[in-house]
Amino acid sequence: MKITILGSGTGWIRLDRNSPGYLIEVDDFCLLLDLGPGVLKQVLRAGKKLEDISSIFISHFHPDHVTDLIPFLFATRYNLGYKRSSPVDLYVAEDFAQFYHLLNTAFRNWIEPPEGLLNINLLPKIKKYRFFIGPFTAYTSPVKHNPESLAIRLEYKTKSLVYSGDTGYCEELVELAEKADLLIVECANSKDLYVEHHLSPEDIALISERAKVRQIIFSHFYPHSERINLDLIKEKFKGRVILAEDLIKIEI
Ligand SMILES: [Zn+2]
Ligand SMILES: [Zn+2]
Repeated sequence: MKITILGSGTGWIRLDRNSPGYLIEVDDFCLLLDLGPGVLKQVLRAGKKLEDISSIFISHFHPDHVTDLIPFLFATRYNLGYKRSSPVDLYVAEDFAQFYHLLNTAFRNWIEPPEGLLNINLLPKIKKYRFFIGPFTAYTSPVKHNPESLAIRLEYKTKSLVYSGDTGYCEELVELAEKADLLIVECANSKDLYVEHHLSPEDIALISERAKVRQIIFSHFYPHSERINLDLIKEKFKGRVILAEDLIKIEI
């Protein structure tokens, strides 16, 4: 499983940290986790074409995680340079039906792909809901952020990856991340600024220790949350810690 960090930032628009997006690859199957503004350009910077995207998972509908879905869908209507012939599978919480209807109304159907090019798979908000995305066995659980927020676990052969989306501390994430080879986790809080429904480095260390994950990627950084005291983390968590940067690649 190859992981490329497309965006290690948030809705705070920066040149050095794009809004959230992660590319997960197995052979030629490409799954995008979240589509914040600028993520499609990051896909190109990572050496991929938009046609290469097989499936998309969206964790929740905050603009920093979903807005590049609009140009992605719009581009399926183009025949100039971009040609999608195989459908893209979208996996998203069941609340998406209303969200998509409102988007289509706002854009007067200009974001509706040609027939057969988009499969929308609505996910129920139940714990450890199991389904399949291409070669992956996937599980989603609701987490503590927005009403539609889901974290996802992906398993391929003996390897497992968990992506938290945005969330506060919750048992659902601890359970979903159990013994994962890699946890990609949001780190929006710091000692200087702690808001509900997000995580601090100390929360993450506790989750990772309790879930017995092998390694963590801290991501979703604000300028105030990216300066992390690794010694403090290592008191609780003995695994490998990676601080996300845009376009770095990790293999598990
Ligand atoms: Zn966010
Ligand atoms: Zn959010």
